[in-house]
Amino acid sequence: MYESPLPDLELPKGNVVEDWLKSPNLQSRIDHPIVSDALTKESFTPRQIIDGMGKHAALLRSKYGIEENSVVCIFTFNSIFHSILHLSILSLGAQISPANVMYTPEELAHQLRVVQPRLIICAPENAKTTQEAIQLANFSTQVITLDQAASEIRDLLQNRNAPSVSPIPVDGPEQHAYYCFSSGTTGLPKAVITTQGNINAQFRQMNAVNHLMLKPGSRMTAFLPMSHIYGLTLFLWCASYAAAHIVVFPKFELETVLRAICAFDIEFCPLVPPVAVLLGKSPVVDKYPIHKHLKAIMSGAAPLAKSTGELCRARIPNLTIHQAYGLTESSPFTHAVLGGFEDKYESSIGWLLPNVKARLVDPITEMDAEPGKPGELWLHGPNIMKGYYKNEQATEHTLSHGNWLKTGDVAIVDPETQQFYIVDRIKELIKSKGHQVAPAELEALLLTHPHVQDVAVVGVNDSTESTELPRAFLVLQPGVLAHEVVAWFNSKVAKHKRLWGGAVLMDAIPKSPSGKILRRLLKDHKADEIHGV
Ligand code: AMP
Repeated sequence: MYESPLPDLELPKGNVVEDWLKSPNLQSRIDHPIVSDALTKESFTPRQIIDGMGKHAALLRSKYGIEENSVVCIFTFNSIFHSILHLSILSLGAQISPANVMYTPEELAHQLRVVQPRLIICAPENAKTTQEAIQLANFSTQVITLDQAASEIRDLLQNRNAPSVSPIPVDGPEQHAYYCFSSGTTGLPKAVITTQGNINAQFRQMNAVNHLMLKPGSRMTAFLPMSHIYGLTLFLWCASYAAAHIVVFPKFELETVLRAICAFDIEFCPLVPPVAVLLGKSPVVDKYPIHKHLKAIMSGAAPLAKSTGELCRARIPNLTIHQAYGLTESSPFTHAVLGGFEDKYESSIGWLLPNVKARLVDPITEMDAEPGKPGELWLHGPNIMKGYYKNEQATEHTLSHGNWLKTGDVAIVDPETQQFYIVDRIKELIKSKGHQVAPAELEALLLTHPHVQDVAVVGVNDSTESTELPRAFLVLQPGVLAHEVVAWFNSKVAKHKRLWGGAVLMDAIPKSPSGKILRRLLKDHKADEIHGV
């Protein structure tokens, strides 16, 4: 078993918002902008966020009936208003289920069926998708747009007499806070139960490695979607304990980000590997003197190639490059570069965070691997999810032997330095530009096509963009054109789930005697012809 080189931390057990309010960094920046809109420049200070949070919580209660354990689905682009929205909902002991803004009605309907929100806050552009999803999910709920929520919050901030409520007491480790969706090691996307205790633990763990990254007032970007746990937790922690100044982008657009890095003097940029590739390679970058501002990047959600880091450093010579690792199921970070420990190799995901334990296990025998040898990474700690919401079977499969999380990733540990490296992924999951794509979901949809007889979807590596591309292996009825099936499929899914890796025709999908798709064979399959790309 492996342990963190840092001592265990004592963890708060109450309402995460209450703990957040005590942050000394936050108090030291109480009247400074802490979140700013990159486009409109509208900002909030901690004082405004705290004031807005209490008043908005009161409004959510009185106008929308949000109480402890009501679910609110947030289906919007990033915005500075997320700060007040998230805190007011959490302060009531209610839950947030963030949905990917690119979802189609069918994809959103799956989420709504599971979490049954009492209120949906959607981007105005997504109002139609939201209504269609509600119909598909066949239930009724309240819907407001982010613009309506923003206007209510602006009014509350102007109104000195608006009622306000304090965070309610909760049993943090038990109280559900978020239902983000993840396919885990297998199957369809499931609602991950992230408790308030998980968030409390994650915040304290990030504090323990904070000195490497941010000081109060340090400017940083927030374009990672807040519908994914990486963008979400980082945003909340940076806005609370770190008291950084977060420049929020509705979505990632390279030139807008480059311009803002110069305009706001941004020094820290959390990103995913395909964005690092753009920073290293895109000619547009030469138009902006970002090397005068940007000091550090942090890459997560997928492996960062050493060569990509080198490309970035060729342009920004003194750039510090951190790599972080985690999963939706671990809130998310379990590993990071730790202060006081020399990081010899940048391709490492670093060391275990405090309070986290790891095992490297042979997935068949469940015996621990020899020191220095690879094994499936199993994790244990206070930031590991409580389970999958309303899905005991998947919970049992993923959290075993006393709440050890099976990650589906293969790691090795340097016996000398205790640094971890991710060397392979044995779970089905595809990471397309940092987004999750569950092969089971794509396969189920492809099988609804009347001419598809059998199918398997795997991720193929695209080193030019440092991402994986979903590719379908299809068994079709005679006379059917593969590119037509691909076009039909692509019209039905969110952009990141499209078959960017095309389709390959086969006579039969290779399967094990027990009927499991032999995905590794397909990943290595050298196709003569790829259709639909
Ligand atoms: P998600 O739940 O969407 O955050 O996806 C988690 C998965 O992303 C992990 O199980 C890994 O397969 C992958 N991942 C995240 N961070 C890294 C990293 N730094 N290096 C390699 N793979 C990563």
